[in-house]
Order: sequence, then structure tokens, then C-alpha cells
Amino acid sequence: MSTTNQANRLAIQGGEALCTEPWPLPWHGPAAIGEEEVEAVTGVLRSRKLFRFLDHENSWCTRFEKHFRDMTGCRHALAVGGGTAALISGLVGIGVGDGDEVIIPAHTYIASASAVIIVGAVPVLAEIDESLTIDPTRIEALITPRTKAIMPVHMRGIPCDMDPILALAKRRDLKIIEDVAQACGATYKGRRCGSLGDVGCFSVQQYKMITAGEGGVVVTDDEVIFERAALRHDSAMHFWNPGKHAHAAFAGENFRMNEMEGALGCVQFGRLAGIIERCRALRGRVREGIAGLPGLRMHRCADPDGDCGISLVVYLESGGEAKRFSKALRAEGVPCNSIYDQGIPDRHIYCYWEYVMEKGSHDPLGRPWTSPAHDQERVYTPDMCPRTLDILGKAVLLPFSQTYEDRHADLMIEAVRKVTALL
Ligand SMILES: *Cc1c(COP(=O)(O)O)cnc(C)c1O
Repeated sequence: MSTTNQANRLAIQGGEALCTEPWPLPWHGPAAIGEEEVEAVTGVLRSRKLFRFLDHENSWCTRFEKHFRDMTGCRHALAVGGGTAALISGLVGIGVGDGDEVIIPAHTYIASASAVIIVGAVPVLAEIDESLTIDPTRIEALITPRTKAIMPVHMRGIPCDMDPILALAKRRDLKIIEDVAQACGATYKGRRCGSLGDVGCFSVQQYKMITAGEGGVVVTDDEVIFERAALRHDSAMHFWNPGKHAHAAFAGENFRMNEMEGALGCVQFGRLAGIIERCRALRGRVREGIAGLPGLRMHRCADPDGDCGISLVVYLESGGEAKRFSKALRAEGVPCNSIYDQGIPDRHIYCYWEYVMEKGSHDPLGRPWTSPAHDQERVYTPDMCPRTLDILGKAVLLPFSQTYEDRHADLMIEAVRKVTALL
């Protein structure tokens, strides 16, 4: 290395960084906010009608729900206050409660586990595979007489391999609740993620594909699931749709979406296809530009064409190499990160879910963990899903936003080539 000139030295080794200007905003929805969003939201403020059920027919929230019905092809959509609220409502919809177990991947945002616990069930953690989503071959061994549902999570815009999961659920008489919080707009073999299982749950929080500030959507084809989700989402649901609810009443929360969120969500929905198209193009360009480089393995998933295009994942030989590689790339001025870096708590990795690992509870009796309906022997340990930690440790993630120009993709390619050649 000592004879290489300055331009050929890596930035982490004292060379010149490839890119010194600031990188564009990494977000999707928030970066796309323009005058239309400002108009729509201020229009709601001027109307002074913030509550969606004031004028149900002309409500932004009602329109927002229609967008999700149209996109997914599902017969019902319910706008709610957040992705976690969508999961809670969806779990209540499919009848999950005390004593039930829900199989979730060991790599998902902590909210997936939280929703399960909140409805009185407990999460059972499944290993992921190199798609970064739940490994369909590792689910069946986790099924017990208490298992009620499987929650595939379409992480970082990547569709899960749904066919084997759906077949397993059918064979073992289990429900499927899809967590689509990170993959609004993704498809699996031509069908929309969220519409494949019994119920699908979206988020439109700041970091997701599109945003309403906060918010979420529950979609389902099933009347009873929809009714139960709707009852859970509003403590007075029977008042807003009198006579429409066949299902007996039960207590609900306030998970309603408000009209400012609905308005923002509707305008943002119109931008979704463009965001995905642009991200896919950028990601495709980089993927092609770095294909075949020695030492790098490309991410694979069941349906690459259905991926939202917001992340390109590459695998290195070891965790140490992944860390060195991502550090070197960042030093060149290119955004990226290794996923599992011991010591850096990331709430997308099960071992950092304290209230699962330690069975934390707000309840004086320690429920749901201590409920007599649950398996008291169930334990959670930070090393219980070693394959997940191994895969995440070797992964490096390059993020994409529609805000990037082609030259940013080209810089990424150049940086990856430089780093693989010299590191
Ligand atoms: C963001 C997220 C949620 C929760 O959504 P909120 O809108 O923040 O409540 C659930 N699951 C996954 C996978 C997420 O990324």
C-alpha cells in the first residue's frame, strides 16, 4: 500500500474522500413534501374540521382509506393513528389475545413485538434468512398448541417469501398478519404486500415510504376482522356507524386518524408510485455497477421486482469485514451502515428488545408473561437466534431515496469499487 498515490488511498487510510459535499435527505415521504401538502393541510385547518367523523363522506381520512383499498384490492381499509395501532387493531381483528402466541421475525422493529404483547399474546421469535425477512423454513418448528398467528414483516421494502408461509398457515390453521410498515407499495409475485394474509398493517410515520406525520392503515378482505379492528380503534365506534356493526361491542382505544393526517396522507399517496420507481432505478443502477465484485455477495429475495428499492444489501465474509467495509464507505462520503454492530443498540434486532428479553410489563401482576394461559417456561435470551445475528452482522446496507441524483448512484458505485479494491 505504501507506494500508492493519494488518489488511490482510502479515506480511512488518510486518502482523499470521493465525496465531500453533503448527501441529499435520506427520507422518502417527508423529502417529497411540496406545496400540495401545505395546501391540503392548511385547508383542513381553515375548515376547522379536524375530526374525521364530522363529515364522513367528504373526509380526507375516508379518501385515504379508499386509496389503500384500491392499491391492495382489499375490500376494507381502516385509517388509524400509527403502524403500531394498525398492528394492535389487526391482531384484535384476527382474534389474538391472552394465551396466544404469535410468530414474528427476530429482525423487525420492536413495535411488531410490542403490539403482540399489548393484546395479551406473547411473541415467538423466528430466524430470518438472507432476504433479511422471516425464514419460511424455520417457522413450523416454532408452532405450539398456543400459536394463533404468523406475522411476516416486509423489512426495508423487501417482500417476504409469502407462498410457503401462506401454505403453512393454511395447513396448520393459523392466521397471517402482514407488517407492511416499511414496504408500502411493495408487491409479491404481482400481488400487493398487505393483501396476501388475513390482514395487512401499514405505517405512514416519518421514516416510511410515504408519511402523514404519524398514521397507519389496516387492510383486510374479511368483514369480521375489519369490524373488530374498527371497534378496537375507537372506544365509541358504534356511535359513528350506528347499526352497521354486526359484531358485539367491546372496549376500544383512540386510534383514530385526524383530518390533517388524512389530507397529508392523500397527497403523499399520489407520490408513492413515483418514489418507488425512482428508488428502484437508482438501486438497479448501483446493483449493476457493483455486480461481481470480489468479496461481495448480493442480497437475494423471493421477488426482487416487487421490492420498493429503498435499500441495497450486500454481504461480506464476516462481521468484522462488514464493519470495516461500511466504515470505509462512510469515510468516502457515501451513506451506508452495517446492520448488527455489537454494542450499538438497534431496536430492529431482537436482542435489543429489553422488554421482551426481560419480560417487562406495566401490569402489577406482570401480564401477559405471567398469565396462567401462557407457557410459563418460555424464555428469551440475546443469543437465541444466532443465525439472525450472523446474517445481520455480515450485511451492509446502502440506502436509497428518490432525492438522489444519478451522480449519487455513480458515486456509490465508485466508492464500493474503490473500497473493495483497496481494503
Ligand atoms: C415503523 C414500524 C412499525 C410501527 O409503526 P409506527 O407508525 O411507528 O407505530 C411497525 N413495524 C415495523 C416493521 C416498522 O418499521
